[in-house]
Amino acid sequence: MSLQPGREARIDLAAIEHNTRLLRERAGTAHAMAVVKANGYGHGAVESARAALRGGADNLGVVDLVEALELRAAGITAPVLAWIHDPEPDFAEAVAARVELGLGTAGMLEAAAAAGAPSVQLKLDTGLGRNGVPEAEWPALFARAAAIERAGGPRIRGLFSHLAGAGEHEDRAQLAAFERALGLAEEAGLRPELRHLAATAGALFLPEARFDLVRLGIGLYGHSPVEHVSGTELGLRPAMTLSAPVVAVKRVPAGHGVSYGFTHRTERESTLALVPLGYADGVPRQASGRGPVRIGGRTFTVAGRVAMDQTVVDVGDHPVSVGDRAVLFGDPELGEPGARDWAEAAGTIDYEIVTRIGHRVPRRYGGGA
Ligand SMILES: *Cc1c(COP(=O)(O)O)cnc(C)c1O
Repeated sequence: MSLQPGREARIDLAAIEHNTRLLRERAGTAHAMAVVKANGYGHGAVESARAALRGGADNLGVVDLVEALELRAAGITAPVLAWIHDPEPDFAEAVAARVELGLGTAGMLEAAAAAGAPSVQLKLDTGLGRNGVPEAEWPALFARAAAIERAGGPRIRGLFSHLAGAGEHEDRAQLAAFERALGLAEEAGLRPELRHLAATAGALFLPEARFDLVRLGIGLYGHSPVEHVSGTELGLRPAMTLSAPVVAVKRVPAGHGVSYGFTHRTERESTLALVPLGYADGVPRQASGRGPVRIGGRTFTVAGRVAMDQTVVDVGDHPVSVGDRAVLFGDPELGEPGARDWAEAAGTIDYEIVTRIGHRVPRRYGGGA
């Protein structure tokens, strides 16, 4: 019983622990960072972080300081790195909470020094064209960082960058740029102990990019970072199962329209099952008429448009009753649709499917320690 209509994202923390262990062993690096930004890709940041730490991660990564402080407020003491900040940052709270600052501009380094940060990590743009200091500025950045270190300011504990995953040739060009950065940093007198470039894809497929630490995101949650191989094929276990009970069934005649715009009409007399999950809950409207839903041991396709709060499944003559669980995605090994099926139906990637599951869907945890 519940005050909401039974929506649920079940999170298997044992799967996150297993995935962390598997990826860490495969990468073989001295350190592994569990990336738990964006509420742990929708799985819950604190719970995911704890499961990943049990699985052998020894660092945590988030995007901003609010996310970092949430981990600290929950009592998590592992090193936390945050790498995108307000343009006029106030780093005092981060320093007090021992959150390590990832800094993508020379100005941010000055701000971190002014705030008394004991150590920082510099984010370099090796070609992605996103966050990070561009190559032309590396000599000046490293000279300034070394001068700050010598003056007793923040120690440069890490240098890092991020791959575009645009293809092996492009990734290797970024790897070469990262190695140029490491050479320049050394010449300037910096001795970073954490050099890191690889996210899940690099950790799995580009051994030379592993260095001292891999930053594991999507793989922790059981999904593949690349198109050509699935999470299951990599030995990963999907951590999230999205489901809701069927809240109404009705028998309708042939030719009955379904949902906004009547993009679906029943071909014959049929049973419609109503599932209380919609795009407000993260079910992509782009997957209208295409997304898979498993009910009573059979997989159907969403009938008509996904609405804000509800989705209809045309189950034909299949016996479906109110209260039967409708699973949108879970573990393909159990015959359930995968997040990747929804990604393909919506023209997006697994990352977006799991990360956008909304606030109205309670996360229910199992498999914890
Ligand atoms: C999100 C993110 C990651 C994790 O990437 P995955 O592909 O999910 O493993 C790693 N590094 C940075 C800088 C990120 O922003």
